[in-house]
Amino acid sequence: MSSIQSEIQHICASLPEGVQLVAVSKFHPEEAIMQAYEAGQRVFGESHVQELQRKHDALPGDIEWHFIGHLQTNKVKYIAPYVSLIHAIDTPRLLAEVSRQGLKCGRRIPCLLQLHVAREETKFGFTPDEAEEFLRGGEWRQMEGAELCGIMCMASLTDDEEQIASEFDVAHQFFLHARDTYFSDQPSFCQCSWGMSDDYPIAVLHGATLVRIGSKIFGQRQY
Ligand SMILES: *Cc1c(COP(=O)(O)O)cnc(C)c1O
Repeated sequence: MSSIQSEIQHICASLPEGVQLVAVSKFHPEEAIMQAYEAGQRVFGESHVQELQRKHDALPGDIEWHFIGHLQTNKVKYIAPYVSLIHAIDTPRLLAEVSRQGLKCGRRIPCLLQLHVAREETKFGFTPDEAEEFLRGGEWRQMEGAELCGIMCMASLTDDEEQIASEFDVAHQFFLHARDTYFSDQPSFCQCSWGMSDDYPIAVLHGATLVRIGSKIFGQRQY
C-alpha cells in the first residue's frame, strides 16, 4: 500500500461520523489522485480552474470535484457543468454568476459562503456582519441556479490552537444562526467546511462536516 493510501485510510478512520474528507489534490499529478481513488476516496478538492478541467477530463467520472479556492467570476462557466460543490463564495457577485451559469446548465450548483474569521487581512470572504447583511437582504433566494449549503472558513496561520478553535467557533456559531434564521426550511443547508492538514483535528471538535486535507495525504506541493 502506498503512503497516500495509508494516509487516506488513517484520516478516514479518525474522522467522526458525519465528517467527510475532501482530498485536496491541487498541484499533484493524476497518478497521485488515482492512488487515493483506489483507496476508495471519491471527493477531491482543486483550486485552479484549468488544472481542474484537465483532471476532470482525464479521471474517472464518479469523482466528485470540489472547487475550494478563490474563484474568479469569469471562470465559473468552465466548471459549472460538473462541479459538485463550490466552497468559497466570497462576494454576492460571484454567487450571482454561479447561479447564472447553473441555470444555463439546468442545475442548481451547491455553494458555501466563505466567512472571514482569521486575523490576516488578505484572506477572502464575508465578515460575519457582511454575511448577515447579505443573507438578510434575501436576493440570494432568487438565484435559482445556486444553492447555499453552508459555511466555509480558513483559520489564521498560527500554532495557537486556542486562537484557531475560537475562529472555528465563530464560524460555527454563524452557521447555526444562519441555519435557524434563514434556512429553517432548507435541510440542505448543513455543511461546515473547515480544517486543513495542520488544524483538522481542532476543526472536527468545532463543528466541521467537511475537512479539506492536502499535504498530509499527498506530501508537499511542487509549485
Ligand atoms: C490548499 C488548500 C487546502 C489544503 O491545505 P493543506 O494544508 O495542504 O492540507 C485546504 N483549503 C484550501 C482553501 C486550500 O487552498
